[in-house]
Formats: sequence, C-alpha cells, structure tokens
Amino acid sequence: MGDDPASRVYVNNKKKACEYCGILSEEYALPYETTQEEVIDLIKTLNSRSDISGILCQLPVPKHIDEEAIINAIAPNKDVDAFHPVNVGKIMVGNYDFVPCTPAGVMELIKESGIDVSGKECVVVGRSNIVGKPQAMLLLHKNGTVTICHSRTKDLSKKTKNADILVAAVGIPNFIKGDMIKEGAVVIDVGINRMEDGTLCGDVEFDTAKDVAGAITPVPGGVGPMTIAMLMKNTVKAASVNKTK
Ligand code: NDP
Repeated sequence: MGDDPASRVYVNNKKKACEYCGILSEEYALPYETTQEEVIDLIKTLNSRSDISGILCQLPVPKHIDEEAIINAIAPNKDVDAFHPVNVGKIMVGNYDFVPCTPAGVMELIKESGIDVSGKECVVVGRSNIVGKPQAMLLLHKNGTVTICHSRTKDLSKKTKNADILVAAVGIPNFIKGDMIKEGAVVIDVGINRMEDGTLCGDVEFDTAKDVAGAITPVPGGVGPMTIAMLMKNTVKAASVNKTK
C-alpha cells in the first residue's frame, strides 16, 4: 500500500524469487488512500480462493490503516509471514507450520554453518514481534540459553559480550561494535539500514566486529536473502498444508 520505496524493492524481490521457484504470484499494489475496509475485503477474497496458498501484506501500511487488523484478517493457514496471533501462539508452543521468515532465515544460516545452538549463550538485541521475539523463541527451541535485550536494557555491552551467538535486530546503523562482542562469537546481523549515500548498512559495525567474531554475516547479502528464501519455503508449506485440509 502506498509508495514506500523500500517496500517496492522488497515486493519486487519476492516476485522475482517466486518466479525463480515456479510459484505463481499476484501483486495488489493499492494506492495510499485505500481504506482499511477495502484492504480487508481483498484479503477475505484471497482467503476464500482455493488457488491461493499464501497471502502477505507488505509492511509498513499507511498510518490510517490498523496493521494488527490487517494481520488478523489473513487466514492463519495462508499466513506465510507467520504474523497472525494463531501462528505466533503456535511458535510459543513449539508446534508450528510457519515460522516468521527473518528469524527462520537466521536459524537456517546457523544450521547450515554447522553451529550447534544447544547450551550456548544466545543474546538477541531487539524485541519486535517480527524479528526479536520469535528469534528468541526459535533459539530457545534449539536449547539455547536466551537473553533478550532492548532499549531499556542496562549495561548492554556486558550482555552482548557474554553471547556465544549474538543476533542484532535493532535498526541502528553500526550499533554493535567489535568491543561489544566476545572473541569467537557467532554474530548475525539482521539490520538493514539505508544510508544517505544510498548504500545499505547493518546494525553491526562489520569492520571492527569481523576481527573478533568467529563467524559473521554481512549486510547486504547475509540475512536479507535468507528471509526471502524462507518466504518461499513457507509458501510451499502452505500449498501442501492447504491441499491436505
Ligand atoms: P523495530 O524498530 O521494530 O525494533 C527494534 C528493536 O531494537 C526494539 O525492540 C528496540 O527496543 C530495540 N532497540 C532500539 N534501540 C536500542 C538500543 N539503544 N539498545 C538496545 N535495543 C534497542 O525493528 P525490527 O525488529 O522490525 O527490525 C530491526 C532491524 O532489522 C531493522 O534494521 C530492519 O530494517 C531489519 N530487518 C531486516 C529484515 C531482513 O530481511 N533482514 C527483516 C525485518 C527487519 P524497544 O522495544 O525497547 O523499543
């Protein structure tokens, strides 16, 4: 909805990934002034279409739209972003079909790098509903000992320096410096911050962090592409879940 330039890039990348995977995608680019009722009516139509397996609404939505109402309108079995409260609850319980794409991408990176989470000190900086909270839960399900930090956390460096696995999802460029990281830690940078010169920058100061970390993800090119890959995975899952229902 509207003309947010970052959203345009994300939607285009998702459409390209669908094409690459052989998933049919439909885009509804709604003008900024679309009413909440109109968006919800569209979602209801897509909910009822048997040829549509997954639905997502690219966030953020314009200010006059209640984001929560939009998320709640998507049928949980088609909620490929896994933001609906039913899917959030399933993640808490540990019995889920869909996992939010960014935290799922982080877990896949960890797994594919041969890193065992069990018993590790895991620190997640950020507690948003789409990244920080589900990330913490997924690390917990893998038997990590998880600390969640946020803007009110006192002595953040002390917490981050204790991390064997550190996930930064803050939204502040270069926020985590090398001296906040334990020697040999796994550092995963979720942040995507667009700088004034148009370049992208993470939440971790890569140049100072890379000499301390045992493994580190770059921005761009680290978690971002994984997020889209996990969206494709959730969509294929949705197709199979909905077929068997
Ligand atoms: P939010 O703004 O929703 O959350 C940011 C979190 O950081 C909040 O919990 C906030 O704490 C915390 N925070 C802010 N300042 C501080 C501070 N000084 N010290 C410690 N914690 C702090 O952001 P998102 O979770 O949506 O996104 C985080 C980053 O990840 C952004 O750069 C975003 O662009 C990127 N992102 C990347 C994706 C990808 O595909 N790679 C997907 C989604 C997001 P509090 O709750 O107290 O305010």
